[in-house]
Amino acid sequence: MPELPEVETVRRGLLPVMEGATITQADVRRPDLRWPFPDRMAERLTGQTVVALRRRSNYILADLSGGETLIIHLGMSGRILISGDPLGQFHHAHPAPEKHDHVVFDMANGARVTFNDARRFGAMDLAPTAAVEGHWLLSNLGPEPLGNAFNDAHLVAALKGRMTPIKAALLDQRIVAGLGNIYVCEALYRAGISPKRKAGRISTTRIAALVPVIRDVLSEAIEAGGSSLRDYRQTDGELGYFQHTFRVYDREGAPCRTPGCTDQIRRIVQSGRSSFYCPTCQR
Ligand SMILES: [Zn+2]
Repeated sequence: MPELPEVETVRRGLLPVMEGATITQADVRRPDLRWPFPDRMAERLTGQTVVALRRRSNYILADLSGGETLIIHLGMSGRILISGDPLGQFHHAHPAPEKHDHVVFDMANGARVTFNDARRFGAMDLAPTAAVEGHWLLSNLGPEPLGNAFNDAHLVAALKGRMTPIKAALLDQRIVAGLGNIYVCEALYRAGISPKRKAGRISTTRIAALVPVIRDVLSEAIEAGGSSLRDYRQTDGELGYFQHTFRVYDREGAPCRTPGCTDQIRRIVQSGRSSFYCPTCQR
């Protein structure tokens, strides 16, 4: 499931072919993904120029010249492929349509952007740009973890008195937007905080220390994603999924990577999700 760094990588991969470019034809091949598409989606997109391509949490937002914004969520299995040769950099001929290619944009610059989603947990909707922050998918989101509004004061206040485990609190999108299971595990490990610890019982100093750690794990992953963008032109044109090594995530039973620690990474299930942590390093 794509998390924030993967979504940001997809956005950056789309920038050169979509931002400032016009959608000459939008082909919408089914009525819905997770939810129904908006009315006349293909007509509302065709002929529009993408004025800006932004990200909010795990949503990609394409602001269109006509005053609407296309909201895109990749869901569990959504993939975006670029084909064509718009900037002389892409060597991918347009592939034969695949079964799960649900939405296809042909851009005036010659690029084709294909949204493929086998499990159909993804979503697309249109909203007036001026009111997009109030769209029901976005209206309850907390601050961006890489933005200025996510700081010590915010996190300390948001966790104050909370008796839920810190793991669950950090996954709460109202506290901080876009943090998912993988990067919460990684951040708690680096901060030395047990995922089981009650959020409201952690000292302000340790909570404050989480802020730069969260920024670091996300920034490092975005950087790894950026490197992957240089390779995708030689591969299949698919954006966003890249090799990244984790210190605890998916390493159950493996030795802890903290120098001097002889413990093994443990996995527990919290609120139905796996948490990976080192019982010695994380308290
Ligand atoms: Zn350890």
